[in-house]
Amino acid sequence: MPEPPPRNPTRAIRVGSVTIGDGRPIVVQSMCATKTTDVAATAAQVNLLAGAGAGVVRIAVDTPRDVEALAEIRRQTEANLAVDLQENYRLAADVAPLVEKIRYNPGHLYHHERDRPWQEKVRFLVDVAGEHDCAIRVGVNCGSVDPAKREKHADGDVAAAMIESAMEHCELLDRLGFSRYCVSLKDSHPSHVIDVNERFAAQRPDVPLHLGVTEAGMPPEGIVKTRIALEHLLRRGIGDTIRVSLTLPAAEKHREIEAGRQILDDVAAGRFHEDDMAGLAGLNIISCPSCSRVENEAFIELAGQIREATRYAAEHRLTIAVMGCRVNGPGETDDADLGLWCGPNFVNLKRSGEKLGAFSYEEILPRLKEELDRLIAARREGQ
Ligand code: SF4
Repeated sequence: MPEPPPRNPTRAIRVGSVTIGDGRPIVVQSMCATKTTDVAATAAQVNLLAGAGAGVVRIAVDTPRDVEALAEIRRQTEANLAVDLQENYRLAADVAPLVEKIRYNPGHLYHHERDRPWQEKVRFLVDVAGEHDCAIRVGVNCGSVDPAKREKHADGDVAAAMIESAMEHCELLDRLGFSRYCVSLKDSHPSHVIDVNERFAAQRPDVPLHLGVTEAGMPPEGIVKTRIALEHLLRRGIGDTIRVSLTLPAAEKHREIEAGRQILDDVAAGRFHEDDMAGLAGLNIISCPSCSRVENEAFIELAGQIREATRYAAEHRLTIAVMGCRVNGPGETDDADLGLWCGPNFVNLKRSGEKLGAFSYEEILPRLKEELDRLIAARREGQ
């Protein structure tokens, strides 16, 4: 049996009953895909994920009604809970007594109270976390990078913008004397995840890293993409907690945990599959893992239908992005050749960043194929 790879000397941060970093066993996490206000379904999913081995389970909270639901969910589970704050950072004060960890996205701190400096908002989150014994995750995502950083790196080095954003938040947290935090830097492409995490870890080897490929899509492709990035990083000692984000029906969400544990077991045993990167050269479908914000339950089915309907284009190097909501959909589909995001009764479609309109769930597949055929024909003509 080969020696497990030596880990970066990260700080230990406690999240309820688990500790992340400092060479401790790597924690596998997941997130609920149910409506947070559906207390029975969400509590059942938390317990399903925890039962499968999730060390931390995340729940999205956007409204005071979500907070009320979270209070009831808290009573129905002993799992370590993390809250995912979207724009409404002030809700942290109400949810912190109910959870063990708060995740905020630096790019989302601009949406509310625009005149208030982001530094003051972080100070508020630190005060709340400190008062209620919570850890913090600074969750940077390629599709929602701090707009100021994105503008500064308009040359296209998204990784530089992401790292700079994470670094300045780490520096502020350090100055505020709050050390119980970890960082995540997620992208939908495995090679970008590798690049951005390696560069960050070289600068801040002390900060525990939460690894994941965002919007990896449906299994098995989503597991392959995640495995490629995580194997590369973990075997180099980078990463203290992981999430495998998969587009799955709610009842099968525990497969994220199983996939994560398998990856960790394989890395520990020296079984690597990094050569699989070559297999990602053709049509790439990225889709979000869905969460409480998903706008139509047909989303998971839609993602599967898109995969089936586009198989004929498998050898073309194009990316189709499928997202579950209007909050993150527009940003997360920016870099795709064809992007779709769900509304309650319609699906928005865009081609190379240009919005083409909103289509009913019945209309969207033929319209998508039309656009895909156009892109393929245009590429052929350009050859
Ligand atoms: S795109 Fe929307 S529905 Fe999908 S995981 Fe992100 S926030 Fe949730």
